[in-house]
Amino acid sequence: MLHLTDGVWENWSGSVSARPTHVHYPETESELRTVVENAGETLRVAGAGHSFPPVAKSEATFVSLERYTGLVDADPEARQVTVRAGTPLWQLTEALSEYGLMLENMGDIDAQSIAGALSTGTHGTGTDFGVMATQAAGLRLITADGSVLDLGRGDDRFPHAQVSLGALGVLSTVTLDVVDGYRLRERKRPVDIEDVLANLEDYREFRNFEFWWFPHTDTALVKTLEETDETGEPGRLDAIEERIENLAWEGINRVGRRLPRAAPSLNRITTGTFADSERVGPAKDIYPTTRDVRFNETEYGVPREDAAEVLRELRDVVESHDVLFPVEFRDVASDSIPLSPATGRDSTFIAVHAYHRRPYESLVADAESVFDRFEGRPHWGKHHTKTAADLTSLYPEWESFLDVRAELDREGLFLNDHLHEIFGV
Ligand SMILES: Cc1cc2nc3c(=O)[nH]c(=O)nc-3n(C[C@H](O)[C@H](O)[C@H](O)COP(=O)(O)OP(=O)(O)OC[C@H]3O[C@@H](n4cnc5c(N)ncnc54)[C@H](O)[C@@H]3O)c2cc1C
Repeated sequence: MLHLTDGVWENWSGSVSARPTHVHYPETESELRTVVENAGETLRVAGAGHSFPPVAKSEATFVSLERYTGLVDADPEARQVTVRAGTPLWQLTEALSEYGLMLENMGDIDAQSIAGALSTGTHGTGTDFGVMATQAAGLRLITADGSVLDLGRGDDRFPHAQVSLGALGVLSTVTLDVVDGYRLRERKRPVDIEDVLANLEDYREFRNFEFWWFPHTDTALVKTLEETDETGEPGRLDAIEERIENLAWEGINRVGRRLPRAAPSLNRITTGTFADSERVGPAKDIYPTTRDVRFNETEYGVPREDAAEVLRELRDVVESHDVLFPVEFRDVASDSIPLSPATGRDSTFIAVHAYHRRPYESLVADAESVFDRFEGRPHWGKHHTKTAADLTSLYPEWESFLDVRAELDREGLFLNDHLHEIFGV
């Protein structure tokens, strides 16, 4: 996970790099505590490096938990498991399946570490499901002085640690509420975008619903998931097809980069190839997709009732940038986690992407001007330009998070430049 080339670390999209002075790969909690106790300047933990902004970055001490993974405990009766913080989601769901268990919901890849996914408010889609951090029942946190805090529901500091951007300390283990294993039927179909927006409430009846609208076209690719008892597995052919789609998409984006004016026709050709498709399998195999073509992304949570209007307003903005990548639309349930972008309101998350070889900054800024009109809150793991001055008014419990942060990390060991800006300290 923390792969350095000639001493330099890069995140997934290549938008962030760092040359840390110290890199540690602890294998036990006691080694992890020693690293925290001995760190002089900034200490950050890198998960799988799948965040787009420099939220994990450290130029001083960088810690990878890639050797601190796996289940610590599983209680199938109570439907609860405890897992080491560095465990990637694919390894977690694989281990859960051995006990007939599964996460109630997840996003569209499974490469992230469980701690990274919780800490940034990572989410899937579905009106019944909150951000993944709502699945946490207990968190074991190593604070700046090396002490260990076991936080659980009922503890005042627990909700602050559920989504913390890693600013309260290092998560050592995470206890999760899980559910019995289940199977999903995935259906994808191209639909006219205005048709989707007019029928959102019907689509929201599905267990999980999302769509991608392709700029310069009226086409949205709608994906729904339903629980099913049907047998079947996504086969090797599905995997090969996904690879071929990724390869074709890479090619189209390379052409689009050289010939930005061709963007409308390229996307019309792409959406013209869409057809209805269906597959069935265990949830752990159906949620994740392959994302081989690298991109940069911004994503904001907006009040659900405004989502259709936001999407409509974004259309011109995105098309003015000759973007080929689709705009993604997903629902998330309200929660009461102070730093969750869905805190206190049922939300819809809308994401805008740009091919990684193209500049993304002005696209992010223009998309933000739309999100801002609807009091959008940024996903912490996606590009955004928000600082403390903007964030205070967007989060009702912002100040209380700052108090807990100051109490647990007086010297700012866990703050890098990005977090200094976000928290205004
Ligand atoms: C291709 C792709 C697809 C994505 N799909 C989705 C999606 O479907 N839904 C969604 O919501 N997001 C999605 N994301 C965003 C991604 O889920 C988040 O950025 C997530 O945080 C990445 O996890 P990570 O393990 O890579 O963490 P990193 O990016 O490495 O770190 C994230 C944060 O967690 C902190 N952290 C990591 N481990 C610990 C620890 N043990 N203790 C304390 N802090 C820690 C880091 O310091 C940092 O602040 C996607 C990103 C990419 C690149």
